[in-house]
Amino acid sequence: MARALFLEGMLCPLVLCLTPLQAQEGPKVFISVDMEGITDVINWDETGSEGSDYEYHRTAMTKEVNAAIEGALEAGAAEIIVRDSHGSARNLIPDELNRNAKLLRDWSGGPLGMMEGIDRTFDAVIFVGYHAKAGTKDATLDHTMSGSIYDLKVNGVSLPEAGWNGLIAGSYNVPVIFVAGDKAICEQARAIFGNIETVVVKEGIGEASLNLHPKKSRELIKAGVKKALGRLAEFKPLKYHPPFTIEVQFKNERQAYRNSWYPGAERVGDWGVSYTSNEFMDLMRFLMLAR
Ligand SMILES: [Zn+2]
Repeated sequence: MARALFLEGMLCPLVLCLTPLQAQEGPKVFISVDMEGITDVINWDETGSEGSDYEYHRTAMTKEVNAAIEGALEAGAAEIIVRDSHGSARNLIPDELNRNAKLLRDWSGGPLGMMEGIDRTFDAVIFVGYHAKAGTKDATLDHTMSGSIYDLKVNGVSLPEAGWNGLIAGSYNVPVIFVAGDKAICEQARAIFGNIETVVVKEGIGEASLNLHPKKSRELIKAGVKKALGRLAEFKPLKYHPPFTIEVQFKNERQAYRNSWYPGAERVGDWGVSYTSNEFMDLMRFLMLAR
């Protein structure tokens, strides 16, 4: 293998030798894609392979990601990684995804979860199909993580998954620049990240949901991502100051009791557990195991 690579390097034509340099010119973009915030997804039946309409909605999910990819490419993105972040993490249809992106599928079991694949080499994070935190009014399929968590706070700030994932990105010095989903998550995202670009594809009325036409959603997502990357210099990574304290309120006491045995964790209130460290990675490790 090493010899073959050496020969290839020695013999490559000039144009091929320049490719690695050219690839560094544009931004490197990380796209995490959930499903509950995709246009027209309004019921859990539509989000898993057991549902009769799942094939339709996973196709719509793939098209909505493609719109984000197209926007990124028009803005000059040099490299795009798409992380399938919902359920099985095997929802996006690989052959229908834009050929200029790489797709990360399935769960490693590690602490990065919906942000698996992120590292310090990225320039921007984009969330597509995201949803509001558990307990949000007029939100579509609102929940936090596995659904067994009622509330997640870091340093006293109650966070949706977008906020937690934004902190993971921030720990690698990468800013969140764009969120697409329902109106509720877009409002929560702007409260956390400030003046980022957002695209509201639907609006909850109780558990009902008023949706844009999916083609309209895709037009807005493509334009929004392009605009966000055009403003890239304005965005800062989301970082809280150490020490970091994570507080998780569970939906039943069994989980609160079990997770209070995590080394260094403390019981908070009736069904809550908190954990403090100067290293954000320790909080990621805690949440990976606190289920
Ligand atoms: Zn999901």
